[in-house]
Amino acid sequence: MTETNKTIPWTDTILYSRPEEQFISVEREIVPGQRCPACAADDVRRYPIVNWMGARIVTKCQNCFHVLELRETVREDRWPPYWPVTHDWAVSLAEQGRLSQRDSD
Ligand SMILES: [Zn+2]
Repeated sequence: MTETNKTIPWTDTILYSRPEEQFISVEREIVPGQRCPACAADDVRRYPIVNWMGARIVTKCQNCFHVLELRETVREDRWPPYWPVTHDWAVSLAEQGRLSQRDSD
């Protein structure tokens, strides 16, 4: 576990209360000063998603859906709301071997 990961207690990533809202929604944070390179619109927003690669944070034009940035999450993003307790633990030697085997294929 790195120093940056210690800022959020591990219990906050596995224990969370039941939502009290009737409808659940995602806040799309406005990215000020950002302009879409595809359509030149200035309505660019950043928000959490889940796609085929897993949980990600996307920065996307809301006019044409051009993706400006797609990155992996960090604990500070609080996305996904649940993380395995062992998410950032060092992998075993056996797993390291499997990963290096996969990379060389
Ligand atoms: Zn656009």
